[in-house]
Amino acid sequence: MQSFFAHLTFACLSFVHVATTSVVSSRTDLRPILTDPSNYWTANTVVSFPEDPDFVNATERWTIYDSPSYAAAVTPATEADVVKAVTLSRTHAVPFLATGGHHGYTTTLGGLQAGLAIDMSQLNSVTIDNSAATLTIGGGTRFRDIMDPIYAAGFDIRKLLSGAYSSNADLFWGIRGAGANLGVIVSATYKPEPLANGGILTSVDVMFPASMNTSYFNALQSYNGTIPAKLAASTSIAYNASTGEAEILASWIYSGTREEALEAMAPMLDLNPPLVSISDVPWNQMNSATGFGLDAVTCEPDKTRSLYGVNLRTLSASTCISTFNKMATFYDAFPEAQSSSILI
Ligand SMILES: Cc1cc2nc3c(=O)[nH]c(=O)nc-3n(C[C@H](O)[C@H](O)[C@H](O)COP(=O)(O)OP(=O)(O)OC[C@H]3O[C@@H](n4cnc5c(N)ncnc54)[C@H](O)[C@@H]3O)c2cc1C
Repeated sequence: MQSFFAHLTFACLSFVHVATTSVVSSRTDLRPILTDPSNYWTANTVVSFPEDPDFVNATERWTIYDSPSYAAAVTPATEADVVKAVTLSRTHAVPFLATGGHHGYTTTLGGLQAGLAIDMSQLNSVTIDNSAATLTIGGGTRFRDIMDPIYAAGFDIRKLLSGAYSSNADLFWGIRGAGANLGVIVSATYKPEPLANGGILTSVDVMFPASMNTSYFNALQSYNGTIPAKLAASTSIAYNASTGEAEILASWIYSGTREEALEAMAPMLDLNPPLVSISDVPWNQMNSATGFGLDAVTCEPDKTRSLYGVNLRTLSASTCISTFNKMATFYDAFPEAQSSSILI
C-alpha cells in the first residue's frame, strides 16, 4: 500500500482514565485547580466551566445519547498545555477525555461523568511538505480542515486511514484498538497519494422504491469478492414520508472517469431505478456533494442518536431483503421511529 501512517506524536501515555463499561466520575472541585495562576496556561488556552459560552463549543456533541458529562473543559492552544491538562487530571484523580470533532458515537462514553474535557479543537494545524510529500496535522484537526489544502497541493487522502504504518507500530494499533485514552495524539504525519483522475470522482446517487429492494440487493450481492478497488457503494434503508414507504437510497462513488464508473456500476444501473443522479465531484467535496447532499443535515450536533454496528464478512442478499422488510414493518408499526435507518 502506498499510503502509510508515518508518525504519531503523543502528549503522554496514560492508561485507563475512562472506564468503558462502568461509570467513572469525580467529586473534585476543578475550578481552583484549573484557575490556579501557577498553571501558567498559554494565553490562547481556554479554561471553561458549564456556565461559560466557551464550554458549549468545547463539549457539544453530535449525539447526546448516553453522553459523557464534564465539570470543566480545557481547550489547549499548545502541546505543553495538553500535557498540563492531563497531568492535573491524573494528579487530582479526575477522569478526562480528549476529543476532536465530538462526532464519536460510542455509547459507552457515558461511563465518564463530571470529568474534564480536553478539547483539542485549537490544535487543528495542517502542514503539507510538498518535497517530502507528507501531511502533518494537529490532534484536533477535522477532515473538513484537511480536504481543501491537500487537494490544492495535488494530493489525495482517501486511502490514508486504511494504509499501513511505518513507525510507532504498537502505538498505531493500540490507539486504533484500545478505546479511549490510551494516549492523546497531538500530531500525526501521513503520506498522501498523488491525485488520481485529476481528483475527479464519479458520484451516482440512486433511489430504489420498496418494490425493487430484492433486485437491488441481489445486484449488490453480485459484487461479493469482485468489487473494483475504485468503487465504493453505500446503501441506506430509510423511510420516505412522501410515499409512506421504506426505500433504498444508495450512494455509489467511483474513483475514475464516468465511462469506467458506469461500466462498473452496470449491474445496479441496468435495473433502471426511477431516480438516478450522476455527477463529477472533485474529491475534496466528496462528503458534501455525494449521498443526496445529506451530509450537512446528518452532521447536525446536539441530537439524540443511538448507533449500533456489525461487521459483515460477506454481504447476503437474503439477509438484506429480510432486514429491509423488517424495517418496512417497523416503520408502519412505530411512526415515531421513522427517522431510523440502516446503513450498509
Ligand atoms: C454520521 C457519521 C458518519 C461517519 N462515517 C465514518 C466513515 O465513513 N468512516 C469512518 O472511519 N468513520 C466514520 N464515522 C466515525 C467517526 O470517524 C468517528 O466517530 C471518529 O472518532 C470521530 O472523530 P471525532 O474527532 O469527532 O471524535 P470525538 O468524538 O471527538 O472522539 C472520539 C474518540 O476519539 C478519541 N480522541 C479524539 N481526539 C483524540 C486525540 N487527539 N488523541 C487521542 N484520542 C482522541 C476520544 O477520546 C474518543 O474516545 C462516522 C461518524 C458519524 C457520526
